[in-house]
Amino acid sequence: MPSAYHNSYEAGLRIRDIRTYPLTVPIAPDIQKTAAGNFAEVSALVVELLTDDGRSGWGEGLVRFGPQAGAAFVRQVLAPKLVGADPFEVERLWPEMARSVSGRSGGLVIEALSAVDIALWDLMGQSLGVPIHRLLGSTGRTHVAAYASAISWGPLEIALQQVEDNLAHGFRLLKVKLGAPVEAALARAAALAERVNGRARLCADANWAFDVADAQRLARGLAELDYYWLEEPIVPEDIEGYRRLAASSPIRLAAGESDFTARGAKDLIAARSVSIIQPDVARSGGITETRRIASLAHAFHVHYAPHMGFSGAICAAASLQLAAAMPNFLTFECMFFDNPLRDRMTREPVGSARRLEGGELRVPQGPGLGIEVDRHALKDMEARG
Ligand SMILES: [Mg+2]
Repeated sequence: MPSAYHNSYEAGLRIRDIRTYPLTVPIAPDIQKTAAGNFAEVSALVVELLTDDGRSGWGEGLVRFGPQAGAAFVRQVLAPKLVGADPFEVERLWPEMARSVSGRSGGLVIEALSAVDIALWDLMGQSLGVPIHRLLGSTGRTHVAAYASAISWGPLEIALQQVEDNLAHGFRLLKVKLGAPVEAALARAAALAERVNGRARLCADANWAFDVADAQRLARGLAELDYYWLEEPIVPEDIEGYRRLAASSPIRLAAGESDFTARGAKDLIAARSVSIIQPDVARSGGITETRRIASLAHAFHVHYAPHMGFSGAICAAASLQLAAAMPNFLTFECMFFDNPLRDRMTREPVGSARRLEGGELRVPQGPGLGIEVDRHALKDMEARG
């Protein structure tokens, strides 16, 4: 005889339809210069899963350079596997969706899949009336530590002003963008450390600007200046380079924002090449895979620090839910500049520096992601063409 639970599953939630919202918005071009360049606009893909009982689950995929292509992939390839499915069966749906991409995959398709996965978790939380961090098993954190990201690699006067603004906001950890050559990077790092003068801790992000030899010189210099970590000093593909660097580097290394899935993160973590793993929930494979990455890291005594970058409010909410659940969470990347994707996507801004309380951000406590998506704003920000 089927159990009562079995019967309630049978009668449970089903996905009825899927909508996609490819978004592109302009951002202030000079505020966030990095070693990888400037960005005049940012994009994201928002996915809405509609259920037969009238709920909407929301997800976001990073899909920075092709939101319409990501939307087409979701509608044409993933949607047929999702319509009629039970959102609670995420561990069946995830590999089934991944199989639509033959061979080893990453890039746009896993970013689009990430959006679907986050929406599935939103539906699970909503249907039980609990925030996602409680579904995952919570640490009980209602607020999480956040750091300011990121002090520009543009002119020094701009960088110094950003330092002062972020200290005034109450940040206790500031991330600094650095680029080649090493001499310029170290001069900048020293100038900013002098200005901060013990009022906060600093860390640095090089956005792949160096080879291993120069990264070693940079790591030594930053350690002398007491920087907390050095992020992505070399290209993400150079796993052996990270291993060598970690063996000789006196400073913590951080990476992972450029990688996909737990299998992609495995080598950096298992070799202890990084002290901090930084998956982006809107890129890595959603909450399902990011939880796996953070758990794997926990087993190897590696910290988990969610990557946010230019993502929107749904990514911020999903990252805050994970931050409240993962025991090895370290600090949340709080972007301090205006980004309409983050500031307008929901009725209440999520993960914004303006919402900082004593250097920490509040974890949304409503059901699912704990947000209310603003459909008018989505329509307004939809990518044309
Ligand atoms: Mg980075």
